[in-house]
Amino acid sequence: MKIRFWGGARTVTGSKHLLTSGKQNLLLECGLFQGHRDEAEYTNRHFPFKARELDFCVISHAHIDHVGNVPNLVKHGFSGPVVMTKGSVALARLLLMDSAHIQVSDVKYVNKKRRKRGESPKKPIYNIGDARESLRRIEGVHYARRKNLGNFKVILHDAGHILGSALVDIEVEGKRILFTGDLGRRKMPIIRDPVQAAEADFLIMEATYGNRLHGDYENMAERLAGIVNRVYERGGRIIIPAFAVERSQEIIYTLNQLRQTGRLPDIPVFVDSPLATKVTDVFRNYPQYYDEEAMKMLNGHNRPFDFPGLRYTDSVEESKALNRHDEPCIIISASGMCEAGRVLHHLKHVVEDERNLILLVSFQARHTLGRRIAERRPRVRIYGEEYDLQAEVEVMDEFSAHADQKGLLHYVSQMNLPRLKKVFLVHSELEAAQALVQPLLDLGVREVFIPEKGDEFEL
Ligand SMILES: [Zn+2]
Repeated sequence: MKIRFWGGARTVTGSKHLLTSGKQNLLLECGLFQGHRDEAEYTNRHFPFKARELDFCVISHAHIDHVGNVPNLVKHGFSGPVVMTKGSVALARLLLMDSAHIQVSDVKYVNKKRRKRGESPKKPIYNIGDARESLRRIEGVHYARRKNLGNFKVILHDAGHILGSALVDIEVEGKRILFTGDLGRRKMPIIRDPVQAAEADFLIMEATYGNRLHGDYENMAERLAGIVNRVYERGGRIIIPAFAVERSQEIIYTLNQLRQTGRLPDIPVFVDSPLATKVTDVFRNYPQYYDEEAMKMLNGHNRPFDFPGLRYTDSVEESKALNRHDEPCIIISASGMCEAGRVLHHLKHVVEDERNLILLVSFQARHTLGRRIAERRPRVRIYGEEYDLQAEVEVMDEFSAHADQKGLLHYVSQMNLPRLKKVFLVHSELEAAQALVQPLLDLGVREVFIPEKGDEFEL
């Protein structure tokens, strides 16, 4: 029994962990790597293993850095099942098609430049046909039901990270391996709390925020209300760059709660991201994943994702029309790190006016526009042009869908520690994982590893 770490090792993106039992290979996650263009392209185009030699693929949740390269895996000859929860299937359908569209339009743009330089054109990593083909391999399962995949007996439990997210509990050769996927937080809006697993011989744990503590979610709605009221009173606009999956819905849901309790001014709210709109439909269709509070809202005949003054814009014309006037409003738009998408138009429009506010509610990776805004650089570049950053900037990490250091340690502390032999920390930058090592040893964990890409361990 072996494990080899091929992605999401000392980095937060491109998760890929390969489990081998005898001649059977199970790939845990098949995410897209995001980062510098050339490195990302190479890593995503070429797998470090033979796709056709894999038997099974299990995906913890439908974020692009966990599921995004499945179409390429199938394109390279993988013909086994790709197992995930039914909620993840619904989201993956949208995400993979969207990702294929992005790959195709990216390559078109790159090829225009290549042609000018007399270079041969590139092909997208995968196209719409490849994405569609890969969807046929996807198999949805319910939480807490056992799925036999050859030697591997797999059970998915709610990870409380995004809708449909799962902890992966694997029994193989008499050993238990628990993979946290991305571990959520307790008391987050809409979805349920993570399921506490107790028994494992080996734990593969994410450590995105291993060196950080988040603000409490309880204070989050209050803080959001304060920000909205302040900007409304000075006649400004609020731009919220947000991931289309989960974060946008959480913001909508929280604004809805504020409106219902009379804490929101009469300010129009626009969701300007076609993907976020489609994802919100998935949320509407999966109330079985809601927590008690969201169920209460639903049963009280309040629709969690609709309220007076909220509009979902669709066409490009509607999106552009939002910037034709300067009335106060809230615009929720993708992408969450301000790297692409409609949010860029809105940022361009608001960035040089100090009445406006940019509200960052997502993780901002290095080298992204979002990170530069978070750092409040005096000048920022949008669509190749420099702008003065005059708008106010607020960062709310209370919305984070990842457990922080306290949450991660608490999770491990509730496990059967004498049984736990090794903990592998993945899905984080090195410093974040390092900050967890000593506290884990102090808890009584015997061995902690921070694997590098390509590292292999006998289990
Ligand atoms: Zn995630």
